Amino acid sequence: MSQHIRLHIPGPVEVSPETYAAMAAPMIGHRSKDFVALYDAIQPRLQEMMGTTRPVFLSTSSAWGVMEGTVRNLAAKKVLCCCSGAFSDKWVDVARRCGKEAEALQYEWGVPVDPADIDAKLATGEFDLVTFIHNETSTGVMNPLAEVAAVVRKYDDVLLVTDTVSSFSVVPIEVDALGVDVLLTGSQKALALPPGLAIFTASERAMERAASMKDRGYYFDFLEFLANHEKSMTPSTPCISTIYGLRHQLEAIFAEGLENRYARHERLNAIVHAWVARHGFEFFAPEGYRSKSLTCVRNNKDIDVARLGQILRSEHSLAIDGGYGKIKGKTFRLSNMGDETEASIQNLLDALDDALAKL
Ligand SMILES: *Cc1c(COP(=O)(O)O)cnc(C)c1O
Repeated sequence: MSQHIRLHIPGPVEVSPETYAAMAAPMIGHRSKDFVALYDAIQPRLQEMMGTTRPVFLSTSSAWGVMEGTVRNLAAKKVLCCCSGAFSDKWVDVARRCGKEAEALQYEWGVPVDPADIDAKLATGEFDLVTFIHNETSTGVMNPLAEVAAVVRKYDDVLLVTDTVSSFSVVPIEVDALGVDVLLTGSQKALALPPGLAIFTASERAMERAASMKDRGYYFDFLEFLANHEKSMTPSTPCISTIYGLRHQLEAIFAEGLENRYARHERLNAIVHAWVARHGFEFFAPEGYRSKSLTCVRNNKDIDVARLGQILRSEHSLAIDGGYGKIKGKTFRLSNMGDETEASIQNLLDALDDALAKL
């Protein structure tokens, strides 16, 4: 086996030995009563974490599968895509590739989405779907979900899809109270599982819209998910091993306690932030809009980020991210999401100190 490089990139993140062990349980048939029991064990906990009484669906795909699926199931008129980083910018392209009319509400990378701009766009009456990324993983910006949801809810015929791939289980998110129509997340980031599973909700309004849509396809058809959910099953053979891992992680999350988990992320994130300030670095995201699951550090000191990453990898067996796309080298990102602890974050920061001294 190759050497273990501990991941502090913002996804995929480090997976614990306990999670891997849970995933090694023997395979079962996806139409068996064992699978029904597995599905039923997971469902109430996911609902509680999402703050919803609606079904929570399991999609064997990465998050992009469901992100594309939401567009195919829900966009009848025109999609308003809130764009402020790599993932949110790509969503408008994905919508167009699905043959949908889509408009980008474009912000500079690092600038949070402004709910007032969404309000002004929706007031035109042109749109029936808004795509929104809660935590823009590429820039480390956490966008104002509650304010955005409140604006979209003023418009009865507009649905709100929210991506929480890097914020789910990091901060509290109440789907029903906020009136979010689709909340989606993926397995390999905030939940610290291997990649391959996406998890999502769909409001009654969203299901009604989907039922009226043509060309939903099969694999991401929301109606297929609902029909199978009623039997505690998935439309096609799911990644059962990853679902074993999810069951284990949910047990661990509820053993820790949701509030304690949120507090742990806040605490570890603050430790990283203190390190950033101590070294005279700046944050890419403005104050008040900084992610709790990762830190996007602005390279205002013009260090050799690629070299920093090499030293961390070769001398400390740690991986960090050297900046996404057009902000590569101008930023670097440090993840504290998943199962990280004070000790593991301190290990990262000590290694960073050592590597910085060697540049
Ligand atoms: C990583 C990420 C995605 C894409 O996830 P895939 O698993 O690669 O499909 C989408 N949105 C956000 C916010 C992400 O961080």
